[in-house]
Amino acid sequence: MNERRTILVRYDEIGLKGKNRDQFINRLVKNIQLQMKDLEGLEFSVPHGRIFIHCSPETAKECTHRLQRIPGVASASVGVTREPDFDVLAAVGVEWIEPQLQPGKVLKFCVRTNRADKSYPHKSPDIDREVGSRILGQLHAKGLEVSIKEADYILEIEIGQDETVIFNNRIPGLRGLPVGSSGNILGLISGGIDSPVALYRMIRRGCRAHGIFFDNRPFMGRGGYDKVVKLSKLLNEYQRKSRLYVVPFEDIQVAIRDCCRPAHRVVLYRRMMYRIAQAVARQKGYLALATGESVGQVASQTLENLNAVSQVVNMSVFRPLIGMNKQEIINEAKVLGTYGISIEPYPDCCSVFMPPRPATRAKIPDLEVDETKYPWEQLMLDAIAKMECVNLDSLPL
Ligand code: ATP
Ligand code: MG
Repeated sequence: MNERRTILVRYDEIGLKGKNRDQFINRLVKNIQLQMKDLEGLEFSVPHGRIFIHCSPETAKECTHRLQRIPGVASASVGVTREPDFDVLAAVGVEWIEPQLQPGKVLKFCVRTNRADKSYPHKSPDIDREVGSRILGQLHAKGLEVSIKEADYILEIEIGQDETVIFNNRIPGLRGLPVGSSGNILGLISGGIDSPVALYRMIRRGCRAHGIFFDNRPFMGRGGYDKVVKLSKLLNEYQRKSRLYVVPFEDIQVAIRDCCRPAHRVVLYRRMMYRIAQAVARQKGYLALATGESVGQVASQTLENLNAVSQVVNMSVFRPLIGMNKQEIINEAKVLGTYGISIEPYPDCCSVFMPPRPATRAKIPDLEVDETKYPWEQLMLDAIAKMECVNLDSLPL
């Protein structure tokens, strides 16, 4: 069958949105169009909130591949459009199922109908039965049987007001919400395993997650930067239009090393990261920060130290990995495809001038005393002035 295909895109959670439903659907359609903009011959239709894409069979393959990385898509099915007529629909079923039958073997099948157009004169179970019995009539002798509960082959029919689509596949999507529906956030991204997973989780909740990276090139080389650009580029595939802000951090780290208690270094670095991230987010109109922190994972992530860093900002800080263990995060990073990049051997700048015994329970008043000993406000302004902004859409993958 070489005719035009119809892809039905099902969405997740948007159905829960009440009055804002149309806005969410429009956002999802725009995101899909953006991800497909280089594919030729696509036509979109959105009758009564159902999303259809019409295209050639070859393009359909590429489309479904891309739909799998668009947040908000629950699943997609590729099929063909037909008249809502039992004989016509059954003929498609016969054409598809017949090649699956093997001599001496039984194939169990069923028909499942979703009647989006309630004015259609037959109810879903009646359509299932009518179409199913016509297919069975033609293929029973070749080993086809009906089983509603244990079907090996499911033929689905979607009856809408404008068109009826028949298909035999469901390709799972990422679920979640369409990017942009929740707003922009700024994620602190290092080259490690955790932060890309944290940003990805926020992207799936409808956020466009821009990244901010604190770079210490003079001491660490540019390996860390290259890694973070690669990771950000990969995350951008799920969202598009995201930016990476690269902040030179060496002067701040040197000042902390030279003026403050060694045990406090890491927490003091992180307080500066949070302050700068908040200032950049405010400047750009982003609504929150996100990090890859998880309780107790390393010395800087004890409850005391997390409090000590949160205390310097008054913007929401999201930590989507907070209750996850390392292995769970690693598994997710592998599925996402960031793991291989994250384990390339370049240490993060937090490990620069690492004291032998970092404080696991730093006290805020003590940190504040340390911060009177170096001109953090001026250093912060200088770092922001020298910040680089990378437009991730403009880089090749
Ligand atoms: P990751 O694997 O994400 O690097 P980690 O286990 O190494 O995390 P930390 O180094 O303590 O933990 O960092 C915790 C979080 O702080 C990171 O997930 C990230 O959000 C942020 N972070 C750490 N270093 C940097 C950096 N150089 N630039 C931007 N954010 C950073
Ligand atoms: Mg790290």
